[in-house]
Amino acid sequence: MENHYICPHCRGHLRVGENIVLKVRNTQREKGILLLHPEVGNYTSLINPHFTIIEGERLDFFCPLCMNYLDAAIDENLVYMIMVDRQGTEHQVYFSRVADEQSTYRVSDDGIMLTGVHSYKYTHFKSSDQQMSSLQN
Ligand SMILES: [Zn+2]
Repeated sequence: MENHYICPHCRGHLRVGENIVLKVRNTQREKGILLLHPEVGNYTSLINPHFTIIEGERLDFFCPLCMNYLDAAIDENLVYMIMVDRQGTEHQVYFSRVADEQSTYRVSDDGIMLTGVHSYKYTHFKSSDQQMSSLQN
């Protein structure tokens, strides 16, 4: 079984096939559907070319099912979802809502894994080198 992503508010399933489906809004308040890759640390994403994203702007992320913000309370630049792994264990996956910023943190009972070239920016999460390398492999 593969990883699943669920909304922290309504617990609705956000993954469809090889995509995590999210609703986003840019600073011009345009709305769009954003598809993210379900593998943590893979920053491939898809959005309609008519939706403008300015580098460095902060996007609003919403659950497309209950329309709640996915904002993380710990930092205004982070959003989060719940990931359910193959064993059925739940993890919190935090990532940056700043366009073109690559920082993702998987928070579990056994520790934190971080990935992305900008992951140093958010110091709420500390991780050992060993955990970092295991995620990058
Ligand atoms: Zn929801």
